Amino acid sequence: MKMIGLLGGMSWESTELYYRCINQETKRALGDLHSAPIAMVSVDFQVIENLQRQGDWAAAGSMLAEQACRVEKSGADFLLICTNTMHKIAADIEAAIEIPLLHIADATAERIRQAGITTVGLLGTQFTMEQEFYRGRLEQQGLKVLIPDEADRKIVHRVIYEELCLGDIRQDSRAEYLRIIEQLHAAGAEGIIQGCTEIGMLVQQQHTSVPLFDTTVIHAQAAVAEALS
Ligand code: GLU
Repeated sequence: MKMIGLLGGMSWESTELYYRCINQETKRALGDLHSAPIAMVSVDFQVIENLQRQGDWAAAGSMLAEQACRVEKSGADFLLICTNTMHKIAADIEAAIEIPLLHIADATAERIRQAGITTVGLLGTQFTMEQEFYRGRLEQQGLKVLIPDEADRKIVHRVIYEELCLGDIRQDSRAEYLRIIEQLHAAGAEGIIQGCTEIGMLVQQQHTSVPLFDTTVIHAQAAVAEALS
């Protein structure tokens, strides 16, 4: 099995889910006491969040590129950036390492295509919902992407940073997310991308009949498939 490289800590709440999901998938595939070979560097998310807020993506890119090199030096055969948002600087990271990057939006687009869906709603940080690096990448792969209106994008974004990244799961926020999911569905979305690695902590498939695509789970499963290939 290849060694899976994880650049985590953004936030650690979701990196914990990656670790669990990757090992569960490995156990399911190989049985017995098998678990996944993993090399991980976990960063201080406050530092990253400050740079996001200041719009200093160049500094965030060079900092994360340096940490990705440490993952590579630890023996990883390929790399996952364990957040959707920081794929904004994926090119900086790819330029700094020799090993391939398993891009979260590519793994997600492939899963959606397999489900026979062409129009999806996208929930995530405002960076992810509004900017080209993520939406554009999905659209290039033939998907039509719907996002909430501006007021609802602010709600989705605020809940991620002020609640989910702190491990705070609230009923009223779940109700807001479900309302927004229903609106996207009514507007034509056949499924919803949970395009932030913490959203699965708040909303799960049991809460809605609209098909959900949890990027954390999809990314982790793609990592195990790649590691076993
Ligand atoms: N983990 C989140 C994501 O998937 C948000 C935290 C971040 O800004 O990296 O986008």
